[in-house]
Amino acid sequence: MKKTLILYTGGTLGMRRSESGYVPDADLEGALGRLLQDVIGQLPQYDFQALDPLLDSANMRPKDWYHIASLIRDNYSQYSGFLVLHGTDTMAYTASALSFALQGIEKPVVVTGSQIPLREMRSDAYNNLIAALLLSGSDDIREVCLYFNGKLLRGNRAVKVNSGSLDAFSSPNYPCLGEVGIQVNIDHNALLVPTGEPQFQIPADANGGVILLKLFPGISPSLIEKILESRPKGLIIETYGTGNAPTDDSAFTEQLEKASKLGTICVAVSQCLEHQVDLGKYAAGSALLDAGVIGGLDMTSEACFVKLNHLLAMGYSDMEIKTLLQRPLCGECNHPN
Ligand code: ASP
Repeated sequence: MKKTLILYTGGTLGMRRSESGYVPDADLEGALGRLLQDVIGQLPQYDFQALDPLLDSANMRPKDWYHIASLIRDNYSQYSGFLVLHGTDTMAYTASALSFALQGIEKPVVVTGSQIPLREMRSDAYNNLIAALLLSGSDDIREVCLYFNGKLLRGNRAVKVNSGSLDAFSSPNYPCLGEVGIQVNIDHNALLVPTGEPQFQIPADANGGVILLKLFPGISPSLIEKILESRPKGLIIETYGTGNAPTDDSAFTEQLEKASKLGTICVAVSQCLEHQVDLGKYAAGSALLDAGVIGGLDMTSEACFVKLNHLLAMGYSDMEIKTLLQRPLCGECNHPN
């Protein structure tokens, strides 16, 4: 018999109004039961667990990702699927983190939330919840997904693209895994096919010490120097286009080269949502390569940040990390050409 564990972490879906705006509310299980009573026979059975404290996902930290992952690991054999109710703001980060922590799973883990609280008129929570719960009972899905507004996306390919529409998420560099409209259509060719046993990777210290830096016209090498003074273990640089940076000022690349030599793993992703980084294409990109920066392929910033944090937190050596960054671990990027 199908049974899903629902983990309620917070987010708009369960929020109520307060004088300072929406805040998480613990009282969701009853509301959920009332809402689902007419259709419950068509859905997987479920147990409900609310995390404490419930969080606006803007307050999520890496330790919270791994707390959710450890609950899934600890309950893995008792349930046929998992549904994580989460705020939309950092949902793509958490979904990415779960994918790295729960590699090779043979059951669905579906992350969802809503743009309007369940208690409010015209809420999108009802549709998102029902479809996500239904999908958590699928035999075909064996990976971490994000479901929102009719679209099933790979968790580590998803990006929040709209804060003012019910259609909040997109997967710019990878096809939708499925669509829920009048019919439920799963794209079986797009799904991950796990090989081997599940590998739970939950680090003891969740914080890998990674900084995410977006380039902007006029960024000064001294700013980079200041940022690198803290000796981060990893630096994700959101570069322009195919991986370009203001390399006509050699002080800029010198800072990165110095950081690489001192052991900071520097990775370039793109500010563009579609296509991929190719550091050799322009001189403004190959200078980064020469400085020891690695290309982040077609990963989203979110997935790349989480992946580097994960590899560092897991204690892989720098050599291993550089190799693993260039290779898909759970569908987060395509194989390099
Ligand atoms: N700030 C909220 C959160 O991320 C937004 C939402 O859930 O849509 O928790």
